[in-house]
Amino acid sequence: MENVIKIQNLSKYYGKFQALNNINLNVPEGSIFGYLGPNGAGKTTTLKILTGLLHYSQGSVKIFDQEVKNHSLTINKRTGFLPDAEMPKYETIFRFLSLTGKLNNISQRKERISTSLHQVGLKKLQNRKIGNLSKGQKQRVGIANALLHDPQLLILDEPNSGLDPIARKNILSLLKDLAKEGKSIILSSHIIGEVDKIATNIAIIHRGKIVEAGKRHDLTKYLAHRKFIVSGKIDQEKVLSLDYVTAYTHDLLDRVNITVSNNISEEKLLLDLIQKCDSKIKFFSLMEFSLEDLFFAKITDKIEGEDYP
Ligand code: ATP
Repeated sequence: MENVIKIQNLSKYYGKFQALNNINLNVPEGSIFGYLGPNGAGKTTTLKILTGLLHYSQGSVKIFDQEVKNHSLTINKRTGFLPDAEMPKYETIFRFLSLTGKLNNISQRKERISTSLHQVGLKKLQNRKIGNLSKGQKQRVGIANALLHDPQLLILDEPNSGLDPIARKNILSLLKDLAKEGKSIILSSHIIGEVDKIATNIAIIHRGKIVEAGKRHDLTKYLAHRKFIVSGKIDQEKVLSLDYVTAYTHDLLDRVNITVSNNISEEKLLLDLIQKCDSKIKFFSLMEFSLEDLFFAKITDKIEGEDYP
């Protein structure tokens, strides 16, 4: 599979402040690429660079094999962008899209507006003023705007921020449909669990550095640790004295979470808990690491026992 976006050794400074530090990222064609990171991590900076809105001085940023800083006009014809920005309140949806369509020289505007509004499910509301729409509907207008010239690649900055769970679900299923139609999508977000429902690929950025990137499926599969939920009568000190146990915590339900090296089987831990630690076990279960676990581990610069840069 080709990469529609190839970022190599990208650094970006705002004055003396380094917002991006030697970033490398590939976005495969046809993927839904979740770009995750806490506030101020560098997500918007990266996405603005991709759209040609921000200058970069170090590294290479290619979309469709063309360097963005030299070819942003050509690239933008094949790319749609949803910025994290307000739209004019007093314009109707139709007038707003006509205006941006005109500015971007889109041919057969009326037909294109009609198609994009249909794609985002807003055809019936096209004469409503943007100021009178719900947040979810406004996000849909933003996506319709990004779709206006039928781009191959969508760059979406926080498409599900500030939305209620129903609106978020609708936006995610819209993005899934667009991906099925063959569009590649990169979206930034804080809402890890929801991005996880649709993303095929993930990158996590923290303080301007990529701390994790890969196919969604592979990310949590190869973690060096396994976590178990246990309840009953358990002696913390004895459990922590087992040399393969790397963490012992209580969860919100007051059960114990025991993290072990990933070569330790369920049977081995259970036997050791009973025989070596004299535990009386009521409940014992292996817990899958979620993307959220990985996110928190990476952004706190530590994943139980391993340090990250
Ligand atoms: P959020 O999730 O809060 O939107 P983000 O991951 O999108 O954050 P960016 O907006 O890319 O983060 O900002 C990255 C860093 O660069 C932050 O520390 C921010 O304060 C800084 N920054 C962003 N824009 C500018 C600017 N124009 N001038 C100076 N610093 C900036």
